[in-house]
Amino acid sequence: MEITFDCTQCGRCCHDLRLTLSVAEARVWAGRGHRVDLLVEGWPWPDNGALDDPVMQWRRVTTFDARVGDVPFRINLRLVARHDGACPHLLPDMRCGNYDARPRICRIYPLESRPFEAMVPERRLCPPEAWGEGMPVLERDGLAADEEAAAILEAHRAAMVMDVSVKQRLAGLLGFFDAAMAGEGFAVCEVAPWALIEALEAAEMGLGDGPDAWSIVTNRETTRAMLADLECPARLVAAGVGFLGSFADLGGG
Ligand code: SF4
Ligand code: SF4
Repeated sequence: MEITFDCTQCGRCCHDLRLTLSVAEARVWAGRGHRVDLLVEGWPWPDNGALDDPVMQWRRVTTFDARVGDVPFRINLRLVARHDGACPHLLPDMRCGNYDARPRICRIYPLESRPFEAMVPERRLCPPEAWGEGMPVLERDGLAADEEAAAILEAHRAAMVMDVSVKQRLAGLLGFFDAAMAGEGFAVCEVAPWALIEALEAAEMGLGDGPDAWSIVTNRETTRAMLADLECPARLVAAGVGFLGSFADLGGG
């Protein structure tokens, strides 16, 4: 099966950014004074089972061990360039002013960056006229058709694996040990660009081995109560600064 596509240069993907960056890319982005947040989610991971499942294998190699109370978790920490409105690099004619140094995630859009997830055109920001017969082949049988795009995609995924230990140390250096339950949203750590660069450099030098005792933040009272029953530290929060929820707040009281 083929998906055909031709970019219309509409610029939609360069607005209201949430770009997943590698550690190296985050240093560059923050080095230009732009905001990079830590978005953090966790999965309860009671044993090492289900590793014959490729999705679980991927999840395991892109996360690190932690404990929430006595419950083992795996933590996924994403470094995300966040910017409301137009990207600071977007030029008035919708061209990228950072073309040669733009992050990999910009280079591969609208391809799906996560393995084992199908790319669904309707879920992309690209307008309907960007898809259609007679256009270049973007994806063939679920794989990037263009060799260069396939290589960038592979490099992006490789970085997600290689960066795990640096991200774990980064959390320790920033003293940030909050995670959302995967699927409910993300705990958000906002940090000044200069502070992030300092912490990333220290983490890359091997500093920052810290405790692996984490807490869960949630905007759903049922989740907080379920975690309390397991004696897992959990706080009820509202969506906003510090928490990016996938669902409306469902606090108690
Ligand atoms: S870096 Fe360039 S391609 Fe990426 S979001 Fe900004 S303007 Fe768009
Ligand atoms: S949203 Fe799609 S069509 Fe529009 S500029 Fe981005 S990649 Fe091109």
